[in-house]
Amino acid sequence: MKKKNLTEEQMIFQDAVRTFMDRECKPNNAQWEKDGMVSREVWLKAGANNFFGIDVPEEYGGMGIDDFRYNTILIEESVRAENPGFGHSVQNDLVVPYLIRHCNEEQKKRWLPKICSGETIGALAMTEPSGGSDLAAIKTTAKDMGDHYLVNGSKTFITNGLLSDLVIVACKTDSKHGAHGISLIILERGMKGFERGKKLHKMGQIAQDTAEMFFKDVKVPKENLLGEEGKGFYYMMESLPKERLSIAAGSIAVIEFVLELTIKYCHERKAFGQKIGSFQNSKFKLAEMATEAEIARTFYDQCVFELNDKKLTPEKAAMAKWWITELELKVVDQCLQLHGGYGYILEYPIAKAYVNSRVQTIYGGTTEIMKEIIGKSLGF
Ligand SMILES: Cc1cc2nc3c(=O)[nH]c(=O)nc-3n(C[C@H](O)[C@H](O)[C@H](O)COP(=O)(O)OP(=O)(O)OC[C@H]3O[C@@H](n4cnc5c(N)ncnc54)[C@H](O)[C@@H]3O)c2cc1C
Repeated sequence: MKKKNLTEEQMIFQDAVRTFMDRECKPNNAQWEKDGMVSREVWLKAGANNFFGIDVPEEYGGMGIDDFRYNTILIEESVRAENPGFGHSVQNDLVVPYLIRHCNEEQKKRWLPKICSGETIGALAMTEPSGGSDLAAIKTTAKDMGDHYLVNGSKTFITNGLLSDLVIVACKTDSKHGAHGISLIILERGMKGFERGKKLHKMGQIAQDTAEMFFKDVKVPKENLLGEEGKGFYYMMESLPKERLSIAAGSIAVIEFVLELTIKYCHERKAFGQKIGSFQNSKFKLAEMATEAEIARTFYDQCVFELNDKKLTPEKAAMAKWWITELELKVVDQCLQLHGGYGYILEYPIAKAYVNSRVQTIYGGTTEIMKEIIGKSLGF
């Protein structure tokens, strides 16, 4: 894998994460796939290793390091350990940013320490059965009842859907005002009327508990409103660039991982008395993919630099998301082809990467929605 100009501290962190993934995740992957979810134990162990809330201030249990390269290392090492089920990036890159940015002091004290320790597992629930791309059209409602909200509706495709204890739910607090009527409200495990649906039977990422959620007259105290009422859509738009970069990070990691193993395979496997990598077609395909991987890595690193500097625009994050995730699908497919029949056998990491990758161009905003965002920034 290409060396990534890490600082000494980051290399130490990378070593610690690699050891953790190899020791605590890799040996359990097969069991987690059977269970359809990872264990709560691994969340606690990751928390004990300070792998959650890296950018959360130390007073609330985090590491106080606001540098997305750390989050990237966690994602890369998860991919290396062939472990797409562990939803740590939802915790770190989706849930934590909302909590840091929009919680008041009392809420930060209430939620952040247990998020950092892994005792509380987070989820972000925006998508509904009627649609995910058009967020302004969500139907879940939160009716103002004075000291509490009454939440009704449903969500689907929610990552950490079954394991989560704290769920940031996008609700309409004002049905008349489209996007401006959306608020973010935190629902917690055990609230009456908050039910989980079935774990969805997916083609890939099968150790990930993606699930439906149902809300029937859930009484949620006003203290669980995140930020200001009616600002939810704005908050989501503000947070999505980081979420999209986190998905692109997964794609870069997979591209580099499958390329490395395919180059090795092409050196080892022989046909017609020669290495399959020495056929001009194989060599040129590998050369093209190695070039594209370098371009993707360079662009990604630039985006991280801008994110750390608070300068990453939504359109640039959208460019990274669509281009790198689409590249991942192309690279994984071509690498699978170079594996021949073994590429189709799920015992081989390339076959798993193929099914696990497919969702990357869909969640976090589809490729088409990313192009809409970029097109809009061009004045259309
Ligand atoms: C494994 C998995 C995990 C997920 N995790 C989460 C999660 O944790 N939280 C969460 O809230 N959601 C999650 N999602 C949902 C995901 O974000 C949505 O599936 C995605 O945003 C697309 O929404 P949709 O499925 O309703 O498709 P739709 O919005 O129905 O779109 C269907 C098709 O129409 C296209 N389309 C829609 N609008 C336009 C347009 N204006 N122009 C051009 N084409 C358009 C889309 O690109 C797509 O190809 C997850 C999904 C999956 C599969």
